[in-house]
Amino acid sequence: MIDTHSHIYSEDFDTDRAETIQRAKEVGVEHIILPNCDSGTLPQLLSLEAEYSGYCHGAIGLHPTSVKENYREELTLIESELKRRYWIAIGEIGIDLYWDKTFLNEQLIAFRQQIHWALVYKLPVIIHVRDSFCETMKALAPYKNVGLTGVFHSFTGSLDEALEIIDFGGFMLGINGIVTFKNSGLAAVVSEIELKNIILETDSPYLTPTPHRGKRNESAYVSLVCNKLAEIYNTSPEQIDEQTTRNAKSLFAI
Ligand SMILES: [Zn+2]
Repeated sequence: MIDTHSHIYSEDFDTDRAETIQRAKEVGVEHIILPNCDSGTLPQLLSLEAEYSGYCHGAIGLHPTSVKENYREELTLIESELKRRYWIAIGEIGIDLYWDKTFLNEQLIAFRQQIHWALVYKLPVIIHVRDSFCETMKALAPYKNVGLTGVFHSFTGSLDEALEIIDFGGFMLGINGIVTFKNSGLAAVVSEIELKNIILETDSPYLTPTPHRGKRNESAYVSLVCNKLAEIYNTSPEQIDEQTTRNAKSLFAI
């Protein structure tokens, strides 16, 4: 399995990060992708990636909830990082209207700028959408059929929204612990989508799957998402692992 979205560089793991990665390896997690948030998270991301080179892969980007007055400086840092070295993806980027709508205009500017860089550097994007599906699809519209690829991370939308993303082309749906929540309705949506459109993630330390809900999430729990998908598709976890790993490897060029 590949955990395509994990923030295990965060301070929540400062006391047991090595053990956390060990547990992920033990359940069969082959790779972990680390999306960046902003200049404040980059040093920890870089040091974790250096320590687990070839296992942890950094993505570079400015998270929509980190778009504030200083977003231009933050974007300058992203650009210099893209020039400096290879990154597996640009992320996470997108629009978040759940926490704060103050900087919607700046979020849109940052989103478009980073999509532009994704095309220049030929990298997939990791998109964060929260209470902003329409705004996100509107912002993406000019980039249809130009070779843009990526993932709608932590997908929790309706079947119509899933089909709109698939129809756009080039994008996967990132499915995490939310699919194990009884009241989410996501399992019913996922059951209508072909597995070739799905990749696994945790979004750890958030969105811990059942039965650990309420505790800290970690990459090893991606196996619980895999098991749940096996139940939904009436197949084996090995089959889910095989297909979603193939999907992630082709999207992220691992
Ligand atoms: Zn994230």
